[in-house]
Amino acid sequence: MPDMTQQSEPVQPVDGTVVPRYAGFSTFARLPRIGDVPTYDVAVVGIPFDSGVSYRPGARFGPAHVRQCSRVLRPSHPQTAAMPFATQPVVDAGDIACTPFDITKAMEQVEEQAYALIADGARIITIGGDHTIAYPLLRAHNRIHGPVALVHFDAHLDTWDTYFDAPLTHGTPFRRAAEEGLFVSGHSAHVGIRGALYSPDDLSSDAELGFTVVHCREFQTRTVADVVAQLQQTIGDRPLYVSIDIDVLDPAHAPGTGTPEIGGLTSRELLEVVRGFDGLNLVGADIVEVAPAYDHAELTGIAAAFLAYEFLALFGRARSRT
Ligand code: MN
Ligand code: MN
Repeated sequence: MPDMTQQSEPVQPVDGTVVPRYAGFSTFARLPRIGDVPTYDVAVVGIPFDSGVSYRPGARFGPAHVRQCSRVLRPSHPQTAAMPFATQPVVDAGDIACTPFDITKAMEQVEEQAYALIADGARIITIGGDHTIAYPLLRAHNRIHGPVALVHFDAHLDTWDTYFDAPLTHGTPFRRAAEEGLFVSGHSAHVGIRGALYSPDDLSSDAELGFTVVHCREFQTRTVADVVAQLQQTIGDRPLYVSIDIDVLDPAHAPGTGTPEIGGLTSRELLEVVRGFDGLNLVGADIVEVAPAYDHAELTGIAAAFLAYEFLALFGRARSRT
């Protein structure tokens, strides 16, 4: 039994030089499970929910797939030499249990269980699940941090009002979030937007919500550093929440997703933008819409696992500075 009176030292993932990375239990990065260690600073948690999708289903299997793909991760970050698992206790918190049959109830379950994980000051990195879950995740984070600067990576705006009269879907989370003031208008951004819309009015309707929009095509003419500088300026020192729909990547880099759009970011570009958040006040992140049935050679799952690793590195770097 863990000694609950002791402040825990970070428990390392299983050593990949001793036990091959393809062996052993499939927690995220082969980290300890929540409850197996006394405490944690950061928890990776899955939300196997995809009842809000409008096209291909299957993201409910995303968390298990990303855990499997995360076996390839190594402990030392290549760019910063940060050791994300050594500088902070990180655990795999398993999956949030939510009903697939009642979206409203599922969102309440997500909010309460996510809040329980962060209520004592810890951070979570969430693996989806479809994008509907960003809405209850923002509600949970608001209970602690108030309105956040939101950076939303996606091919799609996800600020539509309803689908088939349903208000809670994977295409509407940020409209609901705007209505509740969960993010700071004027200090939030969509990045990677592209693809056909339902109407020319979609962009103007979204513009009223106060997002800075970095369209995907801008990566053709602007440097990544320029985009990062703009985002840093937009976010400032506000609490930052990052939501990554894996379909922001080109289908060549992430085929395993429910609503693919051609002409997307490369994984190299996305990595560099996320690394550009170093030094900002990151409070939480999610990576959603990984649908393994459409994945090939674990491309999409590996992309999601490495993005989660980048967020762990950002949290670790922030902890080292305090
Ligand atoms: Mn999308
Ligand atoms: Mn989305």
